[in-house]
Amino acid sequence: MTDFAALDRYVQDRLPTWTDELIELCRFPSEATNPEALLGAAGWTAERLRRLGARVEIVTLPDSADVPPLVVGEIGEGPRTVNLVQHYDVQPAHPLELWESPPYEPVIREGRLYARGATDNKGELMARIWGVEAYLATAGALPCRVRFLVEGEEESGSKNIGPLLDTRRELRRADAALIEGGGIDPTDRPFLDCGVRGILMVELLVRTLRSDVHSSVASVIENSAARLVAALATLRDTRGAVALDGFLDDVREPGEADRAHVRALPTDDLDELRSAYGAAHFLMGRQGADALEAIAFEPTANIQAIWAGYTGPGTKNVVPAEARARLDFRLVPDQSPERVEAALRAHLDRRGFDDVQIQHIDSTRAWWTSMEHPVVRAARAASEAVLRQQAMISPSMPGSAPMWEVCSRDDVPNVSLGAGRTDCMAHAPNENYRLSDAAIAARITARFLDEFAALD
Ligand SMILES: [Zn+2]
Repeated sequence: MTDFAALDRYVQDRLPTWTDELIELCRFPSEATNPEALLGAAGWTAERLRRLGARVEIVTLPDSADVPPLVVGEIGEGPRTVNLVQHYDVQPAHPLELWESPPYEPVIREGRLYARGATDNKGELMARIWGVEAYLATAGALPCRVRFLVEGEEESGSKNIGPLLDTRRELRRADAALIEGGGIDPTDRPFLDCGVRGILMVELLVRTLRSDVHSSVASVIENSAARLVAALATLRDTRGAVALDGFLDDVREPGEADRAHVRALPTDDLDELRSAYGAAHFLMGRQGADALEAIAFEPTANIQAIWAGYTGPGTKNVVPAEARARLDFRLVPDQSPERVEAALRAHLDRRGFDDVQIQHIDSTRAWWTSMEHPVVRAARAASEAVLRQQAMISPSMPGSAPMWEVCSRDDVPNVSLGAGRTDCMAHAPNENYRLSDAAIAARITARFLDEFAALD
């Protein structure tokens, strides 16, 4: 029987030292465009896992020197293995002017560490490492095998985690996987997500001319921006619902139990979501349980960027030759990105937009685990033991992570586990992590290992 009171004391004692570690890791500006910092963060992570006592392996792709390596750290023995799926890269920090302190000069204000990556995913990665360290320090040995899979391309679509794992197929074999982070709500209730969304990202391109032309001839010359905007307008109805033909054809209908579960979730996170980002209201006037269901079960179609013509200072009176937009589609089971992309092509062609080119950027599929799965029960018990409140369980987090690539081949169940909050501002300026929450995430992780190893 593990002495969790002793484990909790260990976490509390170590937290100041651990905070210094997290600060070190957050100093690497490991954005996709900074290969040197990516390698620095990978090396730092490998070294930290070695100090934990893990057998560390740096997995690279032959002939692809520019692909950030997968850092693998394996520790512990036992009949069961859990894969911890994490990443050392971060979202771009811009717009820099909205940060109250520079994103790669971590500072602590009012108990929170502010830095890009403080939560997503460097803080969450460290909390997993700390949980394992605390378990080892208290119990002497782990009750199961723990395998860290720490990649460097998560924020740019995890393009190579599949190929990297294909070089070492046994690394996928596990009895459970923890998704990178996990949540608690404003009243400290644990929040478990039993899966991740899929995604399809594409760029649309319209070229109507060889070059921009003087706008005095706009009465006779086709405008690329106008074509693109007209095409995009067909993807959404006047209420704001997705109007892409066939988009919902493959969607696996959620069961009644799942629906009831989601509808019963508290709605205070919705209010926080609205106020944190300054949104006036939700699309289509959705609120309460309807908004919860939409977030949980509906696939999305989003214009993430759109540009054409001259956008610098001053003006330039031209008809732009070329217009572009980037779209992302968040997918649910059993949508396939290939089928959605084909549906988009057919939808545009049917409406006479065969001049709109679709360029594939990247994609992954959703991976959801039953909310009744024993691994989810173990995650729930671990979370409730620390936070002493009933866990809320949702079928999927709204975002994406490469769980399909890691888990689907061997049918590995997955769940989230941790202590991130909406106001951690992941992906946004002033990202932060409450250090007390990092300690909570470490304690939950340690307890999960016990619960997981004891499942019958
Ligand atoms: Zn992340």
